[in-house]
Amino acid sequence: MKIAIASGKGGTGKTTIAANLALSLQDVRLLDCDVEEPNCNLFLKKELEPIAEVVSEIPEIVEEDCTYCKKCSDFCRFNAIATLPNKILTFPSLCHSCGGCMLVCPEGAIKKREIVTGTIRKSLAGDETSPEIYEGLLDIGKTMASPVIAELKKSIDPGRTNIIDAPPGTACPVLTTLEDVDYCILVTEPTPFGLHDLKLALEVARTLGIPHGVLINRSGSGDDSVEEYCIAEGIDILMKIPQDTRIAQLYSEGIPFVQEMEDWKDKFIQLYDSIKERYGREVEA
Ligand code: SF4
Ligand code: SF4
Repeated sequence: MKIAIASGKGGTGKTTIAANLALSLQDVRLLDCDVEEPNCNLFLKKELEPIAEVVSEIPEIVEEDCTYCKKCSDFCRFNAIATLPNKILTFPSLCHSCGGCMLVCPEGAIKKREIVTGTIRKSLAGDETSPEIYEGLLDIGKTMASPVIAELKKSIDPGRTNIIDAPPGTACPVLTTLEDVDYCILVTEPTPFGLHDLKLALEVARTLGIPHGVLINRSGSGDDSVEEYCIAEGIDILMKIPQDTRIAQLYSEGIPFVQEMEDWKDKFIQLYDSIKERYGREVEA
């Protein structure tokens, strides 16, 4: 099963939930898809080794063959090519490696050039009670997170429970992460900002047709708007984690709270069981 942990904005505690859930279950693979800032391993503290480089293809213009017809720059919706009267410019950091410019060029004046954009790393060892961790790491200065995430997702093990920590927000890297997952836990906090960003994340989950539920972190610290919204919309509230000084202290020390507060392990196991049940119902429906 593939369970993604996502949120419409950063700072909701998404990674904390992913790490604590993974540590509460057995035979788990934890994938850190927040490739611009992977930090699940801050909690798991495993030794990681690189297992693959992520290579993307960007256009390289053969200028002597170019007639400056502009077809490539007109096609590129990411503005990664600009055609001037006697000059053509490419902006590799904006390129999404779709290959379209190469297809539309009537002169065959665009070649592919491979560049390394990131690395996939995995933990050296895992056992039944300690999650294996895989993480993607986007190279500094590179902007193409989606290819790194797509490569990382090849490490999903269909025979295990895969916990997938998504990047924050609702942009392309989130869509790449959530594509094909079985269930999505949307983490939010009980504030008007939390509700605003939850609505955006819900839109993504609904558009992709992914069964989902909401986890309210730091419950009791704000207002009831998130809870009231979920009830009114018929959205499952899967769990509420209270604003708790002990949890905050453990977080600040990089310690997953299930390691020190054993009763939370049982609650995460119950959460997982309820997700499996809800997912089963969705599949049958
Ligand atoms: S490969 Fe796609 S994104 Fe990159 S420059 Fe060409 S058209 Fe634009
Ligand atoms: S489509 Fe080809 S020929 Fe036309 S401007 Fe682009 S590179 Fe040059």
